[in-house]
Amino acid sequence: MNHIEEKIIQIIDEHREEIIALAKDIQSHPEPGFYEERTAAHVAAFLRGLGLRVHGGLARTGVRAEWMEQDGPNITIIGELDAIGCKSHPMADPVNGTAHACGHHAQIAAMIGAALALTNEEVQASLSGSVSFFAVPAEEYIDADKRVRLRKEGIGFPASGKSELIRLGEFDHSDIIMTTHVHMMPVEEDFYLGNAACNGFSAERVTVRGKAAHAAIDPWDGVNALSITSSAIQMMGLMRETFREEDHVRLHNVIRKAGDVINAVPDEAVIETKVRAASLEAIRATQEKMDRAYDGAAYAFGGKIKREPLQGYMPVIHRGADEVMKESVELLDATYRCSRPSDFNNACTDVGDLTHLFPVLNFTFGGFEGKLHGADFQITDEELAYIKPAKLLALTIYHLLRDQAKEAKKICREFKPVFNKESYCQYIRDNFSENE
Ligand SMILES: [Zn+2]
Repeated sequence: MNHIEEKIIQIIDEHREEIIALAKDIQSHPEPGFYEERTAAHVAAFLRGLGLRVHGGLARTGVRAEWMEQDGPNITIIGELDAIGCKSHPMADPVNGTAHACGHHAQIAAMIGAALALTNEEVQASLSGSVSFFAVPAEEYIDADKRVRLRKEGIGFPASGKSELIRLGEFDHSDIIMTTHVHMMPVEEDFYLGNAACNGFSAERVTVRGKAAHAAIDPWDGVNALSITSSAIQMMGLMRETFREEDHVRLHNVIRKAGDVINAVPDEAVIETKVRAASLEAIRATQEKMDRAYDGAAYAFGGKIKREPLQGYMPVIHRGADEVMKESVELLDATYRCSRPSDFNNACTDVGDLTHLFPVLNFTFGGFEGKLHGADFQITDEELAYIKPAKLLALTIYHLLRDQAKEAKKICREFKPVFNKESYCQYIRDNFSENE
């Protein structure tokens, strides 16, 4: 281990209690996406205390601190601010119903710990490039009603925090993004290095319009919106054989409303739908099938369909473990395994959007028990969940930016983005009329 590597580890160890206290404080005050005011204020105060220039109120609650004195590539570390709706969690907020059952508070702790080490003068002097610490809002799904409210409050792409921040240009100066999360797939080791491919999704709110009639006297004069809905969902079941294994398709329908009273033919149904798949093409093609199922069922019964396409998240593009991250984890007393191209996570995250624009260096970590988003989720190993991830972030950044940022420049050179900011925003506007 060289002197700077030792220094990074030593600084984080010296601030161990402070980092854990911050994590626990955030965990005790969970807040929902785009409304993480208290969490954001805490993160901002901490980063300001390190002498960093801090910009707040980005996409409502985002906080970005910069250390930009030097030329060279910019590495942006992401920490997610929001908690997940999980009323039954013992640490849930009784008013807003959210809990840190996805471990985002641990991400913030890791980012803060990395900031402590990377703002040290001697460490900074060894780096050729800049680092941003970006606490971002709203990773978890934002439902249709909340999106309407957010749009009125000026959020252009209310589907997710990262998407809105891309639109606002808040990632314009980022060259490489670093993300971390608690393990999202079954992993025995302490660390999982790299980004497993994940599903992306699109969503819709479908309104089925039928015609009311007395359920017993003259049902033949009615058009049953519930029958249209259940027929459409059955058709989707029969469509399963057209889904290819490699597309990892998942269809979800939740019926929010289906008629009002039992003695009238239901004249209106409202359904929220979600299509998950492994590529943008598969999402689009499957969405069309789902739309045809609703249209076909409505045609058969003589009803009508209105649909509101809702932006989802893009799939995560697989990225193997970068050498700089492997080199870093070797300095820690920890077990690890590297992401394989065949690894797949059926869940979705808005990190997927970032992987279409930037090289995203990611790792996940253990130190918890229970299910993600479940009432039994809890951190059981503070060292592994809060401290070691901070070290891995900081050491990886050191290895990226030392020696004239040789490794960071190589990663940037080799990366082929799917979109730039403009084509990304255009894609979202073209496909999701909610954002027009
Ligand atoms: Zn999460």
